[in-house]
Amino acid sequence: MNIFEKCESNVRSYCRSFPAIFHRAKGSIVYAESGEEYIDFFAGAGALNYGHNNEYIKQKVISYLDADGIAHGLDMYTSAKEKFLAKFNEIVLSPKQLDYRIQFCGPTGTNAVEAALKLARKVKQRTGIFSFMGAYHGMTLGSLSITGNTGVRAGTIGSLNNVTFMPYPYGFMESFDTIEYMQSVLNDVNSGIEKPAAIIFETVQAEGGVVVAPIEWMQRLRKLCDENDILLICDDIQVGCGRIGSFFSFERADIVPDMVTLSKSISGYGFPMSLLLIKPELDIWEPGEHNGTFRGNQLAFIGATAALEYRGNSNLEQDVKEKEVFLKTYLTQQIAPISEKISIRGIGLIWGIDLENFGGKDLAKNITSRCFKRGLIVETAGRNSTVIKILPPLVTDISTLKKGCSIIKEAFDECISN
Ligand code: PMP
Repeated sequence: MNIFEKCESNVRSYCRSFPAIFHRAKGSIVYAESGEEYIDFFAGAGALNYGHNNEYIKQKVISYLDADGIAHGLDMYTSAKEKFLAKFNEIVLSPKQLDYRIQFCGPTGTNAVEAALKLARKVKQRTGIFSFMGAYHGMTLGSLSITGNTGVRAGTIGSLNNVTFMPYPYGFMESFDTIEYMQSVLNDVNSGIEKPAAIIFETVQAEGGVVVAPIEWMQRLRKLCDENDILLICDDIQVGCGRIGSFFSFERADIVPDMVTLSKSISGYGFPMSLLLIKPELDIWEPGEHNGTFRGNQLAFIGATAALEYRGNSNLEQDVKEKEVFLKTYLTQQIAPISEKISIRGIGLIWGIDLENFGGKDLAKNITSRCFKRGLIVETAGRNSTVIKILPPLVTDISTLKKGCSIIKEAFDECISN
């Protein structure tokens, strides 16, 4: 038994899928102590959009450390935070004419979600929240209460209250109008479901199995919220920060949510950081009402500022579009023909190979395990983990994408011929 198995809690998870000891990483490649190399199609679950140890960001972080820049600052004013706020306004908010206040939350995504739920309830003085079947929002009580996966919900006994799950336009719910359904529920005085403070949604359900919401559906969702005095919260933690091309994933629907959660790749370097963007008129917090010790990770501010500069100096948005075409073409031409029961879904640089009707969870697991043995890190997602989720760093070049995809194809061929 190794030290991890001996000492670490049973709750550990990804290490079980990827049993190696990693010690170094660069760009899209991760190296293990054993000398093995792995192409990374997981990207820290979306925290490494700019690649491992991105050189531009790294140099900024090193200089800051070298100058004894303040490392921990609660929520005090610091030059690192000042520069981040200015850059975020300059590169992201102003050009998009978005007017949001920025709340620095505790360092993980789930804390931004907690803050959003808390604030929405405070603003509207209502307890209810509508979330969507298939949604994933995090593991603390509030976030878990709006997460659909019954497997992870089972870890909590009680307290996942005041949430109504509505159908996301997918699967058996695809055949009826989910927006009309929500409106009918709100209209019906006998529906037993009270008007919620907010509706929280992902534009692409990532952990939910790479389910991409249609543009028209998102626009109607915005309208539904407006017409019924409900706040709209977009959880952009996994598919924001350029994952689908544009900085925010909701831009493709030309809508403006009332609140937006961001985390994962916002710090650019994999440092913990999490933000809640709030329309100014909703920012009714009292000072300190959502406090926390680690809301001022200065290295994360340095990384985040450098990441925005990197974004500004590169062609990332266009690059993602080109790589999207590559992935889509590869998957539809090389993987889909294996069986008409396989479905391929995705947008930008998040793609899913859904094996629900072709081998299911066992085949998906078998394939991802074989991929790992062949030098590729790729995870499963979705209902019963039947979807192979491809989530490479955005900076991955086409030849590495191709290598990774060929490994998936070889793993398929191997499993099917056995
Ligand atoms: N929301 C979404 C959409 C996510 O994908 C995740 C993480 N997978 C979270 C919230 C929670 O973030 P964290 O794990 O950092 O708490």
